[in-house]
Amino acid sequence: MINLDDPLIHGYLLRLIGEDGITLIRNMPEGEVTDEEICNTLNPLRTISKAADDKVKKLNIEIKAAKEKGEETKKLEKDVKAAEKEAETAKANLGDEKEITLNTVRKILFILYENKFTICHRERDANSGWLTFRWMLNMDGIYHQIEREKKKLYRNLVKRKEYEDNNIFYVCPQNCLRLVFDEATETEFLCPLCGEDLVFQDNEQFKELLDQRIEEFEETA
Ligand SMILES: [Zn+2]
Repeated sequence: MINLDDPLIHGYLLRLIGEDGITLIRNMPEGEVTDEEICNTLNPLRTISKAADDKVKKLNIEIKAAKEKGEETKKLEKDVKAAEKEAETAKANLGDEKEITLNTVRKILFILYENKFTICHRERDANSGWLTFRWMLNMDGIYHQIEREKKKLYRNLVKRKEYEDNNIFYVCPQNCLRLVFDEATETEFLCPLCGEDLVFQDNEQFKELLDQRIEEFEETA
């Protein structure tokens, strides 16, 4: 299992699937599971509440059937009262739980699948013909993925530093835009948006900042 508290992994997953997604990974049941099973695990109080409601429904059906057959229903009536109370208590607790809907679960699973972080098996029920998707996490590729992202970021930083080194910049004092020297000559050193005189911009500080970031990357590489 990957370490979700590692800041690199946490940051990467947060961008990819958000807080709900991280909660899902943290609580993902073992083995191959359906999206509904995952959803139930993520919403334990809602699952209890739904089970209690189902129990009430089932008992009411039994009572009706017993009455039709002219059977004694006293015991069942007592059971249904208790079940109703359970259902009520369960419902009262729901406020403590942030719901993660089945739709959200499916969306997260889909993104994870696209990034090869889940394995999915399809199963067709012989009787109903329904397709069931069974999911399993496989986050092994995440280190590789983060490495790739870091390399891309590093390349972008180096490219940006080159661009800053090789150009002279002019900016509009109203912050409309930033132009390189050749572009500024084309507009006769006037802002093409608001008409103000463009001014030379010293980018030494920005270049230092870029150097710092590049060094940080090289140290951790
Ligand atoms: Zn301007």
